[in-house]
Amino acid sequence: VRSGFCKENSTFYSKRKPLTLPPNPSLDATTYISSQPHRGTTAFIDAATGQRISFSDLWKAVDRVSDCLYNEIRLRRGDVILLLSPNSISVPIICLAVVSLGAVVTTANPLNTTGEISKQIGDSNPKLAFTTVQLANKLPGSISVVLTDELEEPTRGVNVVGILSEMMKKEPSGERVRDRVGQDDTAMMLYSSGTTGPSKGVIISHGNVIAHVAKFVAQWKGDEIFLCTVPMFHTFGLLSYAVAAVALGSTVVILRRFGLNDMMEAIEEYRATSLALAPPVVVAMINDSDRIKAKYDLSSLRTVRCGGAPLSKEVTEGFLEKYPTVAILQGYALTESNGAGATMDTVEESRRYGSAGLLSSGLEARIVDRDTSRAKGVNQTGELWLKGPSISKGYFKNEEATNETINVEGWLKTGDLCYIDEDGFLFVVDRLKELIKYKGYQVPPAELEALLITHPDIFDAAVIPFPDKEAGQYPMAYVARKPESNLSEKQVIDFISKQVAPYKKIRKVVFINSIPKNASGKTLRKDLIKLATSKL
Ligand code: AMP
Repeated sequence: VRSGFCKENSTFYSKRKPLTLPPNPSLDATTYISSQPHRGTTAFIDAATGQRISFSDLWKAVDRVSDCLYNEIRLRRGDVILLLSPNSISVPIICLAVVSLGAVVTTANPLNTTGEISKQIGDSNPKLAFTTVQLANKLPGSISVVLTDELEEPTRGVNVVGILSEMMKKEPSGERVRDRVGQDDTAMMLYSSGTTGPSKGVIISHGNVIAHVAKFVAQWKGDEIFLCTVPMFHTFGLLSYAVAAVALGSTVVILRRFGLNDMMEAIEEYRATSLALAPPVVVAMINDSDRIKAKYDLSSLRTVRCGGAPLSKEVTEGFLEKYPTVAILQGYALTESNGAGATMDTVEESRRYGSAGLLSSGLEARIVDRDTSRAKGVNQTGELWLKGPSISKGYFKNEEATNETINVEGWLKTGDLCYIDEDGFLFVVDRLKELIKYKGYQVPPAELEALLITHPDIFDAAVIPFPDKEAGQYPMAYVARKPESNLSEKQVIDFISKQVAPYKKIRKVVFINSIPKNASGKTLRKDLIKLATSKL
């Protein structure tokens, strides 16, 4: 097994312990997870209600739900289910049950509009949706629904075919005929815009999930109490907290929605040892440290994992000064890499300021010059390419985007500008891809641009990220109006706000005569970003 940098093929190999992966190709992710030995007792706790589920009840629930889905709803291998839900104990149960049948889980952000959710339904064609009473009305009437909470009132226009709690109570049918599911089968499809264009379904195989679980189990000890502060519709929340933590035997305390005080209360009440945060929350914890430390007992907390955007030396030092007993560890990953990327695992490693850590176990990396496609060496900056058992096979029903993003040798082009230093630490310098991240949420500019040009007064438009202290970035639009139009900034903002989830809102508009393009008609985003930020 190689480790470090290999000059001959300009490949960086992970310095972490190699991954031990099950060789059996006909193994599904749920079986792999359920067969991991551990001594845990409580699997999940809902922070808002205090509801708990033990590992044995969790597996009973998974078994009964999968039984019901197979025998009564006739869910089969390859069928897709949509999960539209806030974080809850239902998420891991549904996910493990559906995946065990060889069916595929796709998730949507509950903040998304009916239009946005319908688009995803059109693309992924789910047979069934799992959702809450409150969110059910966001779904088109044509889709069958299983409600994950109790039916308090009739949900008008929603085709309810089942209630999750009833499925969990049913005695198993005894019939165990199932489709054969293997590591190559698709387990999940999480939506990401990748390097360009609108959101696409990232194909996540059972093998990808197994690789992530194996890495997670090797990285953590079973005595952790994780506080899941990140959304479970996103790769981080779903793969790490709803799925991999189950194999570890640790307890996951679930926060339905992120709130700084709710998070602090949950750390104190459940003695959480580890949580994941985006850099703006780390900054908020530093700024509010006097109040936080006076009000809450955070003595149980050992690690804060931080990712989604770079963490500066100042912020790291500021955090360590205010919370000296907590290790702040940066990590880097993307939906397409299924949790693999880079991590810091020790306080020692966290002192490599500005770095996102060492390459994950089993991962190979290249730093590639975008113009010449030549792989570069140590401390040289270029696009990060990744290869390994966690890397996705591509995008669902989108060969063009797949070929653009993953080459024939299986290298994933991340769209991130990075370098790797002499000790193997990864540094993320900039984002080459179009993607905007607002408070960690993905905002694909292409989707907003497509909406903007449907306005009768807009001739052309480009959407770019604008830096923001609190949100990291927000979407800003350059708009070329049609001649004689006196469309205002507010009108543009309102036009988009009505059609998209709140986190996708355009928050700044600048009018321009024409959108700068290259010879092949591609928007010169970097020029616009330079223009927008030149006065800062
Ligand atoms: P997502 O697929 O939503 O997880 O977004 C992945 C993208 O978030 C990456 O391709 C990066 O652009 C960005 N990202 C994630 N972690 C970091 C980090 N530690 N530093 C800088 N950017 C990051």
